[in-house]
Formats: sequence, structure tokens, C-alpha cells
Amino acid sequence: MANRFFRGSGQALTGDRAKTESFSIESSESARPALVEVRELAKTFRIGVRGREEVCALRDISFSVEEGQFFTLVGPSGCGKSTLLRCIAGLEMAEQGEIRIDRQVVYSGVTGVHVSTDRRPIGMVFQSYAIWPHMSVIENAVFGLRFGRDKVDKHKSHELAEEMLERFGLASMSSRSPSELSGGQQQRLALARALLSNPRLLLLDEPLSNLDAERRSEMRVELRRVQREVGITTIYVTHDQSEALSMSDVLTVVMGGKIVESGTPRQLYFNPRTSIGARVTGRVNLIPIKRLYTDGGQVRCETELGTISVSSRPTDELPETGERMLSVRPENVHVFSNGEGEIFGPNVFEARIVGAEFVGNHMNLTVRLGDLDLAASVSGEDRFSLGDRVSVGLPSSAFSIVV
Ligand code: ADP
Ligand code: MG
Repeated sequence: MANRFFRGSGQALTGDRAKTESFSIESSESARPALVEVRELAKTFRIGVRGREEVCALRDISFSVEEGQFFTLVGPSGCGKSTLLRCIAGLEMAEQGEIRIDRQVVYSGVTGVHVSTDRRPIGMVFQSYAIWPHMSVIENAVFGLRFGRDKVDKHKSHELAEEMLERFGLASMSSRSPSELSGGQQQRLALARALLSNPRLLLLDEPLSNLDAERRSEMRVELRRVQREVGITTIYVTHDQSEALSMSDVLTVVMGGKIVESGTPRQLYFNPRTSIGARVTGRVNLIPIKRLYTDGGQVRCETELGTISVSSRPTDELPETGERMLSVRPENVHVFSNGEGEIFGPNVFEARIVGAEFVGNHMNLTVRLGDLDLAASVSGEDRFSLGDRVSVGLPSSAFSIVV
């Protein structure tokens, strides 16, 4: 049966097809069409008595999302993620800039275009699932088709709804009431319903935050699997670093209503360009740089620890201005019992352990180097204790210079 939902392929690629696909992805990277284009978007809320106070929720927001991409907006609570998503959905009206979905201008601050939510080709799932309590599971699913882009007859509606419920492991529950579903199942139903309207773009605002930890990580995998199979372009909002890292093709960090930095999860984790980007993607040590110079191809940074050699970036990429810092992840802070660190390399420092927490597969240590405390993550089998005198080795390739 021809299937309108599954544009992508759920199967592993083999033989010639795999070659063609990987070739086409590599060769046309910049030519991939943008499904969403946001340009210089700004939004201010007027609050207080007679709207005298202003909250600048978004400023100068520009980004594109490619067809099929899983694009994540990540940042702390209150940074403007939901406002941005709601502007894309048409639930909120920006006051400057432009939004295009599938080449259609849905908002323009210049021409005054504002396409209403029901006429934008989108599906949405928010934190509260908004499924109808008085309808059965299958009725809820069929409901999604009513708002769809295509007109589908009654018989076909049921067939498509059943197929989607099957996809989310809900087929055996189709006659239940939503109140007889677990939180995770309700969330899957909300997703199934959003996808049934056959949108071009799926907007998800912290959809997993009401689930317990175990369900959340299960749903993370499942959501990503279905997203790949359906091949639907998705904008995902979260404040959770592990969701952002594990699910996204592209991560965009938002802070104070502005985009701070953008990249793949690996780029942001291993080579952040900003201290905010480094922090949002995990635990990190930031060491202020007093002076930075190059010496025979090596970058040297004067810090309160002394001079640290850095080899991670070509010099032409070094940030010129701003308060520069070295960032290094705790797992790259190597801790040695005294005397064992000598062969390590250029950046070895004497330290004392001032914090030690055993958490099973690893130990979280705090090591004090002069006046500076660094977080280190070592194997759970290492036996370090509070007060131990140690050497700390910082590999020159593990640093990023951030602003
Ligand atoms: P996030 O989703 O990242 O937590 P929001 O987009 O909800 O952040 O909020 C961004 C900022 O805009 C916050 O300062 C918030 O208080 C403000 N804000 C959001 N919605 C409204 C509103 N309807 N009226 C006034 N202020 C709002
Ligand atoms: Mg929000």
C-alpha cells in the first residue's frame, strides 16, 4: 500500500542505494532546501498595568531548518524557546522579521502577513498533551485527520489512524479512554494525532517533561525513530541537555531571547564557541584566559594556573574579543596519584582532592589547583579520597577557547 506518511525509509540502506544516498547527502549539503526560514525575528511582550513594562522575549532571531532535520532549541527556562515556537505556529505574533514555512511567508513584519495557525502546515505537541478525554484512543487519532492538509474519507481515516497507532504501539488500546492510558501512552497518542494531520513541520515543546525519567529516555528513542521513519522536519524545544544531545541533528542554544550558538551535538559538546553553549550541553570547567599568544604553531594561554598549551583550534578561528576562557570537560581532566602524571605532557599541575562522590560507573571529583577548583570525572574503580595529593593532566587537544 502506498503510504503517505513514510516519506523516509526505516530500513538500513544497502548496496548501490547506500552509496547514492551518502553521495547525494555529501555533495548537496548546502543545496538542501530549507523548510523553515526565520529572519530577524523580534518579539516584545507588554506587561503590567496598561502594558507599560516591556519584556523583550526574542531579538534578532535568524535560522533555517532543512527538510527532514531534527532541529532543537535548547536553553534555560524563560530564555524564549516557547515564544519562538509559538511564533512559528502562529499562536503568537512577532513584531518584526519574517517566517517562511515550505517557502510560504506565514509572517512578515514588513507586509503585515500573518497566516493563522490552522492554515499553517504544522502539527504540534506541547507539554500538556491536549488529547480529548471524552473520545476513545482511535477517535482522538482520527480527529487529527480532520485538521489535515488532505481530505480523507471516513473509511480511509480509520485505516490511517490504526496504522499510526500501530506505529506507536497503541493498536491494542484503540477502544480505551485516554484516562486508561499511562502518561507515556498519552504522549504517544498526542504525537500520533499530530502526525496524522500529515504536517510538513512538527513542533514539539518539551513534550517529554511530564514523564518520569525511565519513560522519558524510552520516549526519546521512540520519538526519534518515528521522526526518522516519517522523515518529518521537526523543531524540538527542551531545557534538558541529554534530550538535546541525544536527539538532535542540529542544536541551537538560546539565551535571553537571542541565539547564542548553533551546531551538531558533537560540535557543541567538544568544540563549543561560547561558555553558554558549553554549559548548556553538559558539565564543563571554564578557566579565564589572561593573555593568549601563539608560539611556533601552538596556542598558549596564560591563566591563573600558569601557561596552558592548547592545540584544538587553528589560530585564525580564535575569538578576537570578549572575555576569553578555556573550556574543558570533566572527563578530560586526568587525575593521577602523585608521581604518575609526569609522562602526561605539557599541562600537568599539582592538586588536592576537595570533593569526591562515587556514583557507580564513575566518580565525580573536585580537584583544587591553587585557587582554582576543577571538576573531574574518573572511573568508578579509581580509589581517590578527600584530601589526596594528586597530579592533574589537561590534554592540550581537549580545550576549546570560548567567549
Ligand atoms: P521558555 O519557553 O524558554 O521557558 P518563554 O518563551 O515562555 O521561555 O518566555 C520568554 C520570556 O517571555 C519570559 O521572560 C516570559 O516571562 C515572557 N513571556 C512569555 N509569554 C508571555 C506573555 N504571554 N506575556 C508576557 N510575558 C511573556
Ligand atoms: Mg517554554
